[in-house]
Amino acid sequence: MIDVLVIGGGNAALCAALMAREAGASVLLLEAAPAQWRGGNSMHVRNLRCMHDAPQDVLEGAYSEQEFWEDLLKVTGGATDEKLARLVIRASSNCRDWMRRHGVHFQPSLAGTLHLSRTNAFFMGGGKALVNAYYRSAQQLGAQVRYNAPVDSLELQGGHFVAARLGVERIEAKTCVLACGGFESNLAWMREAWGQNDRGEWPADNFLIRGTRFNQGVLLKHMMDAGADIIGDPSQSHCVAIDARAPLYDGGIVTRVDCVSLGVMLNRDAQRFYDEGEDFWPKRYAIWGRLVAQQPGQIGYCIIDSKAVGRFMPPVFPGVRADTLPELARQLGLDEAAFMKTLTDFNAACQPGSFDHTVLDDCATHGITPAKTHWARTIDAPPFYGYALRPGITFTYLGLKTDENAAVYFDGKPSSNLFVAGEMMAGNVLGKGYTAGVGMSIGTAFGRLAGSRAAQACVKGAQHAAA
Ligand SMILES: Cc1cc2nc3c(=O)[nH]c(=O)nc-3n(C[C@H](O)[C@H](O)[C@H](O)COP(=O)(O)OP(=O)(O)OC[C@H]3O[C@@H](n4cnc5c(N)ncnc54)[C@H](O)[C@@H]3O)c2cc1C
Repeated sequence: MIDVLVIGGGNAALCAALMAREAGASVLLLEAAPAQWRGGNSMHVRNLRCMHDAPQDVLEGAYSEQEFWEDLLKVTGGATDEKLARLVIRASSNCRDWMRRHGVHFQPSLAGTLHLSRTNAFFMGGGKALVNAYYRSAQQLGAQVRYNAPVDSLELQGGHFVAARLGVERIEAKTCVLACGGFESNLAWMREAWGQNDRGEWPADNFLIRGTRFNQGVLLKHMMDAGADIIGDPSQSHCVAIDARAPLYDGGIVTRVDCVSLGVMLNRDAQRFYDEGEDFWPKRYAIWGRLVAQQPGQIGYCIIDSKAVGRFMPPVFPGVRADTLPELARQLGLDEAAFMKTLTDFNAACQPGSFDHTVLDDCATHGITPAKTHWARTIDAPPFYGYALRPGITFTYLGLKTDENAAVYFDGKPSSNLFVAGEMMAGNVLGKGYTAGVGMSIGTAFGRLAGSRAAQACVKGAQHAAA
């Protein structure tokens, strides 16, 4: 019988498989996707948020445990488990040597990548290279990997894992790590979670999924039905405003549009609806998907002028370009009069200041609602650009409740041989909100922990059997 069965094929699953194998356990990893689509959302990532006390290879300055914790506290509004959050933060300070040993290479953040050079270590070759390196290392270490292997249910006895089922096939193992993502790819479940709004719309019908199509939440649902303890709100997720022309799945990072803080954001009625300059973009980019989801038709329009060009990473699709503002309104299909009134009012409200996109500068509006509190500059230098944006779901936060041993809980009691990692438990740390790179910090910390605990549980199980 296999010692550790790992279900999932992204970062958390691979970290678990590698740690369990390093501890001497036999490992079988089941990935729902075919080999060419392996790696889940992890294949799209770029960086990891890391605590460090002094400059390190690709990381500038220092980023203390306290500062990381305060950032997390701020973005989640307190909806986080401090013990587990601090576990993640501390683990982020000492995982990179281990990652390097398994073939991951780091690089400094590129110029213009949103003030992350101090806090986030970037992966050379992105998530695809990271996932490929981990699969290579896992296979070199003798872990077995099966693709096209979507597990549909588990056989449990009083909170104890017995076997996994894939159709008619049954796979027994001494222990199991669940690392099969959230339910973001399941459009029917997203629809149910978001429900119908006061306008009679089903907002989720207009969502795009930034990552894999394979995170259908099948085992999350199964575990809910099996009585596992659950954490999080099904409507909470990491949700970014992305180019409305992005594909339904796997558009990845290049469909993100990063110029919101340099311009204004309008809804379908050509009205502004939120402070575009509230805080630095890495701390705010993940609120805009939700804000757009709350607007009529779930669409937003980011408007900039030529002064913003070159100050943000160019998205893959060029923006709609026009030499005058009325022409831009017409090309975007917005009501020209309403658009011109919003832009004229905004321009008139911009106060003189010293524009500096690298600090929370003193360029703010006066006398309009909502205010733009930083980087507010008149939009008057042609050519003008507009981007239609839709909510882009990155991953959901509903998950399994866990503890500092990564155990799955049933009725307040930890399972002795069933563990969880990654998006499937991220909601313990991220009740809401997000700060860039923390998804990988959570998945790496809990993936590694779950793999070690699963390997240890095999030994304990064997000792029990021998006694
Ligand atoms: C475009 C994009 C960019 C991102 N950038 C970053 C970033 O730079 N930094 C960061 O920290 N985070 C980033 N994230 C978030 C990050 O991807 C996740 O937090 C992290 O990868 C989650 O890892 P995971 O292993 O839990 O899930 P995933 O990587 O999604 O893996 C889940 C795996 O489970 C498999 N699976 C699903 N159901 C089953 C089943 N029933 N049976 C078997 N297998 C199953 C899937 O095929 C997949 O392989 C990004 C996400 C996206 C979409």
